[in-house]
Amino acid sequence: MKAAVVSKEKTVSVVDKQLRPLKHGEALVQMEYCGVCHTDLHVKNGDFGDVTGVVLGHEGVGKVVEVAEGVTSLKVGDRVAIPWLYESCGHCEYCTTGRETLCRNVKNAGYTVDGAMAEQAIVVANYVVKVPDNLDPAAATSITCAGVTTYKAVKVSDIRPGQWIGVFGIGGLGSLAVQYAKNVFGARVVAFDINDDKLAFAKEMGADVTVNSLKENPKEKVLEITDGKGLDACVVTAVAKAPFNQAVDVVKAGARVVAVGLPVDKMDLDIPRLVLDGIQVVGSLVGTRQDLKEAFQFAAEGKVVPRVTLRKLEEINDIMEEMEQGKFTGRMVIDFTN
Ligand code: NAD
Ligand code: ZN
Ligand code: ZN
Repeated sequence: MKAAVVSKEKTVSVVDKQLRPLKHGEALVQMEYCGVCHTDLHVKNGDFGDVTGVVLGHEGVGKVVEVAEGVTSLKVGDRVAIPWLYESCGHCEYCTTGRETLCRNVKNAGYTVDGAMAEQAIVVANYVVKVPDNLDPAAATSITCAGVTTYKAVKVSDIRPGQWIGVFGIGGLGSLAVQYAKNVFGARVVAFDINDDKLAFAKEMGADVTVNSLKENPKEKVLEITDGKGLDACVVTAVAKAPFNQAVDVVKAGARVVAVGLPVDKMDLDIPRLVLDGIQVVGSLVGTRQDLKEAFQFAAEGKVVPRVTLRKLEEINDIMEEMEQGKFTGRMVIDFTN
C-alpha cells in the first residue's frame, strides 16, 4: 500500500509499505481521506525531533476492514477517525482524570507511530472515534484534528455567550475556532491574521470583526470595538511569535490566552502585566476522545462546516509548500477513494 513517509531530506516520500499482521485489540482501517495539518509540516521539518521513516497524518477517516481478537468497540464497516492521540497508557494520573492527551506514555499518530496518510493504517480499536453517519467523511477529517483542537481550546478559554473572543491565525484550525466560538459557544469573534484572503474567509465563517495585524494595530482596534475594555479571551493558532504577544496585549484583566499554534519560539511575558492584571496563559493540546465525539456532533448538526479541497497523495510536497506560504484557505485533504 502507498504511504506518505518523512524522508531524511525533510521532504515527504510516497513509498510502498507492507503492514504487519494485527495484534490483540487492533483494527485495520482502509483510508478514505486524510487532512494535512500544519503539524505534519512541523513533523516533516523535524521541528519536534527527527522522525525519518514515520508515516505522516493524524486527520484520517476511513472504514474498518478487519478487527483482531479482543476488539469489542468496533466492527467491520464502521467509519472511524484517526486522530493525533493514537493511544495512551490508560492508567496514569492524566489518563484517569480526563487528561489523556497529556499522558507521559502517549503515542501520537504520524509522529511517534505511523499515521493515517496511507491507504491503510493499523489502529488501537479503543482509541479511534466513530464518525457520525450524517457527516461528510472528507469534512470529518478536519474535525479529527483542527476541529477537536479548537473546540477544546475554546472550552479551555472559559468564554461565555455574548463575550468577545479573539482568534489569531485563520488557517485550518483558526477557521474552525471561529465557527465553534460563534456557533457553539455563542461568543462574538474577532479574527486576526496577516493575510487578507484568510480574513475574508474568517468573515465568511462568521467572524464579527477582522483585523489584519500588519495593517492595523491589534490593541487599538480591540479597544475601539470593546469600548476600551479588551477581549474576554483569545485562542492563538498562528504559526509565529508576534500573535502570541499580541493576544496578551488585547485581553482584559483576568482573561485567558489559550496557546495552540506551535511556532518553535518563545513568547515575551511582561511580568507586571501578568501579575497585576491576572492574565492567564495556558497551553491546550488537541482533545480527548470524548472531546472529539462532541466536536463531531456539532459538525454533524451543521454548526461547524470545514472547507476542504481534495488532492492526490502525490501532491503532498506541493501542499506542504503552499501551506508554508499561506497560499490556500481551509484544509487540503488527501483523497484515497480512487
Ligand atoms: P495553517 O497553516 O493552516 O494556518 C496558520 C495561520 O496562521 C495562517 O492563516 C497564517 O496566515 C496565520 N499566521 C501566520 N503568521 C501570523 C501572524 N504573525 N499573525 C497572525 N496570523 C498569522 O496551520 P494550522 O493547520 O491551522 O495549524 C496552526 C498551528 O497549530 C500549527 O503550528 C500546528 O502545528 C498547531 N497545532 C496545534 C495543535 C494543538 O493541539 N495545540 C493541534 C493542531 C495543530
Ligand atoms: Zn493536527
Ligand atoms: Zn497515561
